[in-house]
Amino acid sequence: MNTYPTLLSPLAIPHADGTQTLLRCRVLMGSMHTGLEEKPDGIARMAAFYAERARGGAALIVTGGLSPNAEGNMWAGMRTLASAADAAPHREITDAVHAHGALVAMQLLHAGRYAHHDQGVAPSARKSPLSAVTPREMSEADIQRTLDDYARAAVLAQGSGYDGVEVMGAEGYLINQFAAPRANQREDAWGGSAENRMRFAVEAVRRVRAATGPRFLLIYRLSMLDLVEGGCTWDEVVQLARAVQDAGASILNPYVGWHEARVPTIATLVPRAAFVALTARLKRELRVPVVASNRINDPALAESILARGDADLVSMARPLLADADFVNKASAGRADEINTCIACNQGCLDAALSGQLTGCMVNPRACRETELVIEPAAQRRRIAVVGAGPGGLAAATTAAERGHDVTLFDAAPRVGGQFNLAQRIPGKEEYAETLRHYATRLERAGVRQVLGARAEPATLAAGGFDHVILATGVRARTPELPGVDLPGVVGYAEVIEGRCEPGARVAIIGAGGIGFDVAELLTHEALGAADEGAHFAATWGIDFSVAARGGLVPPAPPQSPRHVWLLQRKDETPGKRLGKTTGWIRRALLGRRGVHQWAGVAYERIEAQGDALALHLRVRGEPRVLVVDTVVLCAGQDPDNALAPALEAAGVPVTAIGGARFAAELDATRAIDEGVRLAASL
Ligand code: NAP
Repeated sequence: MNTYPTLLSPLAIPHADGTQTLLRCRVLMGSMHTGLEEKPDGIARMAAFYAERARGGAALIVTGGLSPNAEGNMWAGMRTLASAADAAPHREITDAVHAHGALVAMQLLHAGRYAHHDQGVAPSARKSPLSAVTPREMSEADIQRTLDDYARAAVLAQGSGYDGVEVMGAEGYLINQFAAPRANQREDAWGGSAENRMRFAVEAVRRVRAATGPRFLLIYRLSMLDLVEGGCTWDEVVQLARAVQDAGASILNPYVGWHEARVPTIATLVPRAAFVALTARLKRELRVPVVASNRINDPALAESILARGDADLVSMARPLLADADFVNKASAGRADEINTCIACNQGCLDAALSGQLTGCMVNPRACRETELVIEPAAQRRRIAVVGAGPGGLAAATTAAERGHDVTLFDAAPRVGGQFNLAQRIPGKEEYAETLRHYATRLERAGVRQVLGARAEPATLAAGGFDHVILATGVRARTPELPGVDLPGVVGYAEVIEGRCEPGARVAIIGAGGIGFDVAELLTHEALGAADEGAHFAATWGIDFSVAARGGLVPPAPPQSPRHVWLLQRKDETPGKRLGKTTGWIRRALLGRRGVHQWAGVAYERIEAQGDALALHLRVRGEPRVLVVDTVVLCAGQDPDNALAPALEAAGVPVTAIGGARFAAELDATRAIDEGVRLAASL
C-alpha cells in the first residue's frame, strides 16, 4: 500500500496553449547555491549532484541561482547565464537529470543590493544591513536592459535543455527589493504605489514568458512574508502573486523572510512547516499550482500538507542534500531509513556563507558525489567500531553496508553519544531523527551491537578484528579551579540529562556550543502559548495575519525562569564562533531573556556561601563575585582515546576518528565525515 498517495501522485502543470507538463510526483527540489557553480570542474560535479537527486525520485529540480548578468552576481566573478558560451556546458546537467526521469529548472537570481562587489545595482541607492557596498540606483535604461537580460537568460536555459526557469522574487533579492518600500524609494513608474513597485516582477515574468513560449515552466519565487520593516502587506503580496500569474508564471513558489530579517525561518528551532497556513491562504487566491516550503523534511508531513490541499507541491532543498533518495525511500515503504535534514545549517548554509563548498552534516557525500564513492568492499573484513556517537554510527553503518562484518561497542546502554544530549535542548529535537535513521540502518545492515559495557583492550585484541575504529569521542574537561568539587558545581551532562535540577541563579563556565545549549535549556520560556507554532510566533514577533508591513509585531516579553551568567575567558563576543546562520539566533534569544554574556573572564575560585556558591572572578581585570545556586561546567573537551596504546601494542590496526582523534573544534560534521570516509576506504 502507498503510504503517501498524494505526495507520490503526478501533477499536471497546465500551459496557456492547452498543453501540460507532467511532474511525476509532488516533490520539487528547492534551489541551493552549492559553491560547485564556481569550481573549474563544477559543471560535471553539478551534473552528478543533481543526477543523484533525480535518480532519488524528485520530480522537478531547481538549480542554484545564476544571475542573468554580471551586476546581479552575489560575488564578483561568479558564473552567470548571459551568453551562449555560459549556457552551452549546462547541457551536461540537463542531460544527466533527464536520464533519471526528472525535470530541471534554472533559477535566475539577481542579487540587487545584496551584491558584495562594487558593480551592484538596486532600485534605490540604499545599502542593505548585510552589505559593505552601497548599490548604484538603476536608471530606466538599466531597468529595461536587466529585464531583457532575464528573458535572454531564460532563452539560453531553454536552449541548454532546461525545462523551465525559476525567477527569484523572494529573500530580499533584486525583484523583492523593487516590490517593497524598504528598498524602493523611487518616484518614477517603478516605485511608489504597490502597482509601480511590482511592475519589475511582472515585467520580468512577462518578458521571460514571451521569449520562451507557452510550454516552458516558469516558477516564480514569491516573498509571501518579508519579515522586515517596510516589507509588503498581505494585500500587496496577493496582488503581486495574481499579477505574475497573469503575466505567465506556471507555478508559484512562496518563501518567507529576507536575508536581512532578524527572524529565523529555516533553522532547526523553527517548527516544522511553520509557515504552511500562510501558503494555504495564498493558494486560495490563485489558480496556478502553489508550492509549500520552509522546514518540511518528512514524507508524512508533506503528505498531510498536500492531502489537506494547503499546497500542490512541496519544496525540499536541504532534505534532499541530506538524503538524495528521500522520495524513493518514501515510495518503497522505507521512510524510516530517510536521513532526515535536522536543519542544523552547519554543513550547508554556514559553509556556503563562509566561502566553502556546501555540504551536509548528516551526509558527507553531498556535493562530493564524484569524489566520495561508496562501493561494495572487495573483501569482507571483521571491523570493530568503539563508540556509538555520530562518528561511530556513520563508520559502522557505512562499513556494514559495504559488506563488512561489523561490531559496534558503546559503554552507554544506547547508541547516540553526544546527540542524546543535543536532542534534549529546546529547538534541537530534530537531532533524534539522525539517531532514528542510524538505528534503522544498523539493524538492516546487520551490525552487531554490544552496549552497556566499556570495551576492554583485551577483549578487542582477542576478538580477531582486522581493524578497530576508535570513535570513543571526548571527555568533558574539568577546569583546575579551587572549589570545583563543591556540591552545586555540576557537569553539563548531568544538567542536560535531568540528573540534577539547577537553582534559580546559575553561572555557566564556558560559552562554547554546549555552554549556549545549557543556557538555552535553563532559560527556555513557557510563554503559555497554545502550541509550538504560537510559541514560535510570539517569541519572534511574527504576525501571521500580515496586517502590518512585513508581518512583524513586537515579540512577547521574555519570561526566563532563571537568572543566568554565561562566561568565557576569551575577550571576544560570546557565541562568535557558533554557526554563521544560527549563532545570531541563539545570542538573540539569550540576550532577550537577560542572560549575562560575559567575555574576558578570569576564574579565581568557588566558595560555599550558606546554601549558595560564590564564584570569584575578574572581568577584564575587575574583581567580581557571582552568588549563584549552581555552577555548570561547559569548559570544553579532551579526546577520549585511552584504548589506542593498548591496541597498538597488541598489533591491532586501529584508527581514531572524530573527537577521539582531535577534540578541539570538534563538531558532528567532522566526526560523521571522518567516519564515512574511513569506512569507505576499508
Ligand atoms: P567548545 O565549543 O570548545 O567550548 C568550550 C568553552 O569552554 C569555551 O567557551 C572556552 O572558552 C571554555 N574553556 C575551555 N577550556 C577551559 C578551561 N580550562 N576553563 C574554563 N573554561 C574553558 O566546546 P563545547 O562547548 O564543549 O562543545 C564541544 C563541541 O560540540 C563544539 O566544538 C561544538 O562544535 C559542538 N557543539 C556544537 C553546538 C552548536 O550549537 N553548533 C552545540 C553543542 C556542541 P574560553 O577558553 O574562552 O574560556
